Amino acid sequence: MADLQAIVDSVYYDLSDRIGEGKLADYIPELATVDPKQFGIALVTVDGQTHAAGDTETAFSIQSISKVFTLTLALGKIGDGLWKRVGREPSGNAFNSIVQLEQEKGKPRNPFINAGAIAVADVVLAGHLPKEAIGEIVQFIRHLADDESIAIDQNVARSETQTGYRNVALANFMKAFRNLDHPVEHVLGVYFHHCAIAMSCRQLAHAGLYLASAGRNPLNGGSVVSASRARRINALMLMCGHYDGSGDFAYRVGLPGKSGVGGGILATAPGKASIAVWSPGLNEVGNSQLGSAALELLAQRTGWSVFGQ
Ligand code: GLU
Repeated sequence: MADLQAIVDSVYYDLSDRIGEGKLADYIPELATVDPKQFGIALVTVDGQTHAAGDTETAFSIQSISKVFTLTLALGKIGDGLWKRVGREPSGNAFNSIVQLEQEKGKPRNPFINAGAIAVADVVLAGHLPKEAIGEIVQFIRHLADDESIAIDQNVARSETQTGYRNVALANFMKAFRNLDHPVEHVLGVYFHHCAIAMSCRQLAHAGLYLASAGRNPLNGGSVVSASRARRINALMLMCGHYDGSGDFAYRVGLPGKSGVGGGILATAPGKASIAVWSPGLNEVGNSQLGSAALELLAQRTGWSVFGQ
């Protein structure tokens, strides 16, 4: 068994002179106020060992990583019925693109682009007030991470609510195609708030463990989803988790992953570990520059890949 702590330390150390690389997401004003010189790696193995280096206790805005958890909840509610509302194909477009949505008549390509996640939020909202749906999402994540302290950063939620014009456009577009059941403001309220959940790398790696462990939380033995659903969520993360950078991420890292514009990435090494990395500076397609580099080195040094040894 490789010395995982030594590998995590070596990845952190080898990239430490690049801390601060990349560009902060400034289209959400609150995210532009984050100190870019932060970098953390946390890995939780399926037998419950945590290995961490750098800023792994600092809570950051998980943004689109939250879409993994809302997808899990929506599949729990309506199962395969979800695929009538959202596709399962990579988009090859930017995360907030409206072009494809028009061509494909209001059915988003996948649950991880913004339009797809807004449709997923609509599913999670069914039978609830927006507040209750937001509460359900936060409770689910707290349960997964076994940490009641996880909360929404209200400044980020407000900032995005005030400036999320593109998401308002996407939601209205889908509403026009009858792909949203609830009022646009309610659905966006749920979406903006789940994107604004703040978590540390350590909490996030813990919360993602069910994806590495056949749908079970190995730390308390509880079943979160079936093994086949965990596999499928991983497949979607691999194909669609990095927007139009998904192919490059699969090529370089070879593990399912989901990025967020807060600079975090959650990755799954099936049967081995859940990994969360964070550094706020983004590359040109909106994925953490250092986070992607860290996962590439980590995958090389551990030999972990879904494509073979
Ligand atoms: N809340 C962000 C948005 O809708 C999420 C984007 C991301 O993290 O990739 O623009």
